Amino acid sequence: MSIQTINPNTNKTLKSFEEMTEKTVEAKVAKAHQAFTDWKETSYQQRADLLHKVATLMRVKKSELAKTITLEMGKLLAQAEGEIDLSADIFDYYADHGEEFLADKVLNPEYGEAIIRNSPIGVLLGVMPWNFPYYQVARFAAPNIMVGNTILLKHASIVPQCAAAIEELFREAEAPEGLYANLFISGKHASALVSDKRIKGVSLTGSEEAGASIAMEAGKHLKKVVLELGGNDVFIILDDADMEKTVEWAVVGRMNNNGQCCVASKRFIAVEAIADEFIQKFKDKLSKMKVGDPMDPSTELGPLSSEEAAVHLADQVKRSVDEGATVLLGGKRADRPGAFMEPTIITDLKPGIAAYHEELFGPVASFYVVKDEQAAIDLANDSDFGLGASVFTQNIERGKKVADQIDTGMVFINHPTWTQADLPFGGTKRSGFGRELSALGIQEFVNKKLIRIS
Ligand code: NAP
Repeated sequence: MSIQTINPNTNKTLKSFEEMTEKTVEAKVAKAHQAFTDWKETSYQQRADLLHKVATLMRVKKSELAKTITLEMGKLLAQAEGEIDLSADIFDYYADHGEEFLADKVLNPEYGEAIIRNSPIGVLLGVMPWNFPYYQVARFAAPNIMVGNTILLKHASIVPQCAAAIEELFREAEAPEGLYANLFISGKHASALVSDKRIKGVSLTGSEEAGASIAMEAGKHLKKVVLELGGNDVFIILDDADMEKTVEWAVVGRMNNNGQCCVASKRFIAVEAIADEFIQKFKDKLSKMKVGDPMDPSTELGPLSSEEAAVHLADQVKRSVDEGATVLLGGKRADRPGAFMEPTIITDLKPGIAAYHEELFGPVASFYVVKDEQAAIDLANDSDFGLGASVFTQNIERGKKVADQIDTGMVFINHPTWTQADLPFGGTKRSGFGRELSALGIQEFVNKKLIRIS
């Protein structure tokens, strides 16, 4: 396994990191455990002060941190800066609201008096992906530090400089030693670590394979786990959608983060009446996107996160075409060095074709035409995934009725699936379980202790 910074804009290796030895990892786990004994005794105010400090440092260092994101995984620089702002907002949000979310709940039992008190549970292991290197960590670490837990973080191997920089932010914020530690280890090693008695819970954001591996270990050792896995979100266009706005959002929904969001709009489902108009406008916009260096502010579509990811995506498109799909736009690797893929639209997809079932993690849109609203809902639900969905209609009540019938953790009306600190995030089916962000996200790794007074 290699932990390396490889610039996906050029595919050049820039820096390599040593994997930590067993001895180093053992020392980090011991420190995190030791830190918990003190951290759980701190006040909410002390915890909030630390989270605010981290948020402030993020904003001060935004430009430098964002450049590292772009260098390591190819996100457009402006979007990388947006990610740092969002992450800082999440730290501030839990600093401001954590105490209220964790306040005692007074019960009204038939006999006696009782309260539920939220107590921390100990050291948590986070396993995070590269696609939002700061945001993914923020939504796990901020609420749990507010709870009083301590954090060990295994980040994706292709964003080691981001991983180290996050740990450094905590150091600069004068967090106690062991409160937050970065682990340069393999995924396999992270799974093995779940068995350690000092680790009380684990949260993974990533692929189904990695999620299953962590969940298996967590199950074997009876530990709480939160899984945020892949998605195949639909973007439904009904006959009364505002077409200009819908097309604008379709481009953002698919192409944000160079197409690599778990909640990206991946399956575009248009009802017959407006399908031609939508696809012509959507195709026209995608065909004009400026593909290039993600550091260049005029670029609209950057590379995928790695050469491996680009090869995988191009193979998914090729397999789908071999199985009967039609390419409406693009369909190939872009003609330039680096991990690039052309903006692509494919159609004529049906069960049995790769792109009908698999998540396409990059700038490839799947396009479907259906007879009516019910057919759109049925197609939306014919997926193993259940992360997010969006529906475009000018009739909000109609949008809500459609939302009721879609089996996902999130449905957005007139907007692609999105995220912000005060909205819960998570999925159903093979997209995982548990929730992050909002008042729900802070409740995952707490002991909801009953205290009964006679
Ligand atoms: P991945 O390979 O699963 O990597 C995610 C993390 O899991 C990395 O830190 C990785 O480490 C680690 N890992 C890999 N194999 C592991 C194993 N056997 N045991 C424990 N940890 C393991 O995911 P990816 O393909 O890079 O990321 C894209 C996927 O994540 C997509 O499916 C996307 O939809 C999903 N995602 C979901 C959400 C959500 O909130 N639901 C958000 C973002 C992304 P290494 O890098 O060292 O392999």
